[in-house]
Amino acid sequence: MPLITARQLEKTYLAGDIKVKAIQGVNFTIEPASFVSFVGPSGSGKSTLLNMIGCLDPPSSGDLQVAGQDTTRLNRKQAALFRGEHIGFVFQDFNLIPVLTVFENVEYPLQMVLNWPKEKRQNRVRELLKAVGVGDQGDKYPNQISGGQKQRVAVARALVTNARLVLADEPTANLDRKTANRIIGLMKEMRDEFGTTFIFSTHDPKVVGNAETIFTLEDGKLL
Ligand code: ADP
Ligand code: MG
Repeated sequence: MPLITARQLEKTYLAGDIKVKAIQGVNFTIEPASFVSFVGPSGSGKSTLLNMIGCLDPPSSGDLQVAGQDTTRLNRKQAALFRGEHIGFVFQDFNLIPVLTVFENVEYPLQMVLNWPKEKRQNRVRELLKAVGVGDQGDKYPNQISGGQKQRVAVARALVTNARLVLADEPTANLDRKTANRIIGLMKEMRDEFGTTFIFSTHDPKVVGNAETIFTLEDGKLL
């Protein structure tokens, strides 16, 4: 069974009196443990689509199933619970909490969302930091590590709760190309190791090299 099924998906925003058709009649399926990229220029609808898959913003019409759940039927509170249980997020600007150490940033979802006991939490955090290649950076603060290292920490944080889907909206936009390709390579390794489905977006066609499935968006439509 596919992890994600979208049928005739539409998203229209109202900006004042003007309707913006951000996503128009989009259909796709994504299998579990896939490594997928949505590529397209700025304004093509990548963030809108990822936000719908991530249950952050509901579709205007159409069908969107994620992990067996009809996402169009979730209210805000149910959507938040669903995200906490199933989905990890990685952002363009890393979104680490500056006053927490690297270790504490990755520990945060286990403590605040899942309320795991301390020892279990700390073992899990150590495992993930090691897996993403920053096992020796746990005591540092985000402003003491490089952009590439920050994004490694963000990938660890997205994976720490055992999410089966990680959504990464332009995760490499603030990285140089070499570091960008390393981060995409890291995400693919994590997919291989943990079986997590990764979906990332990029406006840079040169960054999609490693993706197994590439969907190209233009003006809200899949090519
Ligand atoms: P991308 O992530 O590919 O740059 P977006 O999904 O952010 O594209 O945007 C797709 C289209 O929807 C653009 O025309 C954008 O201006 C519009 N849009 C996005 N978010 C909103 C919003 N909250 N209100 C109105 N229009 C929006
Ligand atoms: Mg965007």
